[in-house]
Amino acid sequence: MNALSTTLIHHPYEAPQGFAAPQQAVHKASTVFFPTVAAMRSREWKDKSAYTYGLHGTPTTYALEERLCTLEGGTQCVLVPSGLAALALVALALLKTGDELLIPDNAYGPNKTLAEGELRAWGITHRYYNAMDPQDLAAKLSSATRMVWVEAAGSVTLEFPDLPALVRICKQHGALVALDNTWGAGIAFKPFDLEPGASEPLGVDISAHALTKYPSGGGDVLMGSVITRDAALHLKIKLCHMRLGLAVGANDAEMVLRSLPSITLRYRAHDLATRALAVWCQTQSAFVQVLHPALPESPGHGFWKALCDRPDGGAACLFSVVFAPRFSQDQVDAFCDALKLFRLGYSWAGPVSLVVPYELRSMRAVWPAEINQGTVVRFSVGLEAVADLHADIAQALRAMN
Ligand SMILES: *Cc1c(COP(=O)(O)O)cnc(C)c1O
Repeated sequence: MNALSTTLIHHPYEAPQGFAAPQQAVHKASTVFFPTVAAMRSREWKDKSAYTYGLHGTPTTYALEERLCTLEGGTQCVLVPSGLAALALVALALLKTGDELLIPDNAYGPNKTLAEGELRAWGITHRYYNAMDPQDLAAKLSSATRMVWVEAAGSVTLEFPDLPALVRICKQHGALVALDNTWGAGIAFKPFDLEPGASEPLGVDISAHALTKYPSGGGDVLMGSVITRDAALHLKIKLCHMRLGLAVGANDAEMVLRSLPSITLRYRAHDLATRALAVWCQTQSAFVQVLHPALPESPGHGFWKALCDRPDGGAACLFSVVFAPRFSQDQVDAFCDALKLFRLGYSWAGPVSLVVPYELRSMRAVWPAEINQGTVVRFSVGLEAVADLHADIAQALRAMN
């Protein structure tokens, strides 16, 4: 007879199999049990055939990975603790000393900071290219170029590039193409099939996604994913993921699994509200430019239209305005401070609308030709009623003047 403490740990009761309910169970584990030493020795941890250790996957994380593959049209996925960790994992897994990385000048800022910090220190060089000029990308590809980041739409200024053209140039050159797919989220366009109906699918090699945004949808989870369609590429990423120990928490994975069924509805709702506000902002004299790829006047609108303008496509929840140069930085700050429903804060795609003023000059190698001079303010539109958000921007404009 074992002691009580032992029996409480090695308890004989097993609940019946076959429990069925809408939500995925939360399987929490660092340790996973093996029935025999032979099973322990032969267990495969590189695919989903079994379980080895919490770091390498549980039923909860496997389920999330598979659903994300379906969302983005890939075949393999790894989960990491943030969107930025997804970008970093791609670089660490696939680049080595002597390689060159090309990054769009309008990329998500911390991706550039990683290249300027750790990657440079390890002898991986980088150059920035103008995503709105495929010829600039073509001219910057060299024999050292191993990988090219693409992002659509661009960060903060939301220019929409000719993504199929950029991908085709990289393929011709033999460089890997990695997409930051946070904006599109697998909904606006299909990253692994950019020309639906074409005989040869044209797609990116890797899609990194900040699940923190749409897949979470709550502003309360940090997570990222790296999805591929190529088994060899996935294995490199999976091995690096294992060596770095980039596990995600089971409760966080469950939160994303719970939000995923509503992602298409949320994406559409955010999109409709964002377009309504962006169109209204175009009528306001305080703004010299409104940046949103679904607006015909916005940079790259034609490329957005060709790729994303379908009933099941879309344009996400972000738009930016450029304030007329007559407004000082202090006045623009006062406008942001006066907003009540739009809260000051980073990130997007949660229920609460957000606003951030940006100093574009410090973020870009060159001021983008398509963007008017003036202070840029980015709005992330949440799920509040559009009329209330509209009234909030109107009252903040009055307060600023
Ligand atoms: C937010 C974001 C990231 C990083 O995601 P975190 O989970 O916040 O690290 C990466 N790329 C884009 C485009 C993003 O918007």
